[in-house]
Amino acid sequence: MTICDVGPRDGLQNEPETLVPSVRAELVDRLAAARLPRIEAASFVRADTVPQMAAAEEVVASIQRREGTEYSGLALNEKGYDRLAAAGLDRVNFTLAATDSFSRRNANQSVEEAVAAAASVIERAALPVTLTISVAFGCPFEGPVDPGVVADLAARFPSTEVVLADTIGVATPRQVRELVERTRAPGVHLHNTRNTGYANAVAALEAGAPLLDASCGGLGGCPYAPRATGNIATEELVYLLEGDGIETGVDLDALIETSVWLEGLLGRRLEGQVYRAGAWAGD
Ligand code: MG
Repeated sequence: MTICDVGPRDGLQNEPETLVPSVRAELVDRLAAARLPRIEAASFVRADTVPQMAAAEEVVASIQRREGTEYSGLALNEKGYDRLAAAGLDRVNFTLAATDSFSRRNANQSVEEAVAAAASVIERAALPVTLTISVAFGCPFEGPVDPGVVADLAARFPSTEVVLADTIGVATPRQVRELVERTRAPGVHLHNTRNTGYANAVAALEAGAPLLDASCGGLGGCPYAPRATGNIATEELVYLLEGDGIETGVDLDALIETSVWLEGLLGRRLEGQVYRAGAWAGD
């Protein structure tokens, strides 16, 4: 199985603070030192719309590359892809929404337009592509999302790594299990907005999705629920999986130290609990 730490991108993008590029690069380096196999390091979107992600090139240039870690970034169009590729990342994450309402609010385009944009990036991309389908379980504007719609969307990208995202954190384990089985998507992106995130992660893994997104300390918020938590925390996931005998390859102590560092940096408690409780070796 593979954990992708999305803290430096999806996490920080949804936090109120804007960290300077050198600190964002240090976060990436600390995660790599904790042996995260994949890290979402930066976002190549317009700085005026997402100031937290400004100067992505500077972040990427400051990273100390570690062998064994794949560094990815977010792009939403061909221009973003070109910037990402020029910066030297290893993988592009492209996102499209499962509903028209969410797609129009977030990307100012219909689902069909987003599908066309994704297809053109995938066609020209020299880098491996991950396609994240957001609001795959529920939409803040349209309510529950028909699994058939998500399955049809995923089926249009048969040779691309698809990640099903519970963007607003409404899914429960059976829904996750059934959608992973139906779409055969290899990955899920889960939020712990309603405390179902970890149960959903176990369900996804058991249903055959070996790629799990998470963020150190549970960094990130929930769009459309400003007071709610965001991504599932990477430490929680590592603790849970390793305790169950599933090897993650991640150094839990180094990860915990990273979240303690982040807490000091942000000056407030993070959502994760394992970094505060500490790892427990069972003896
Ligand atoms: Mg997220």
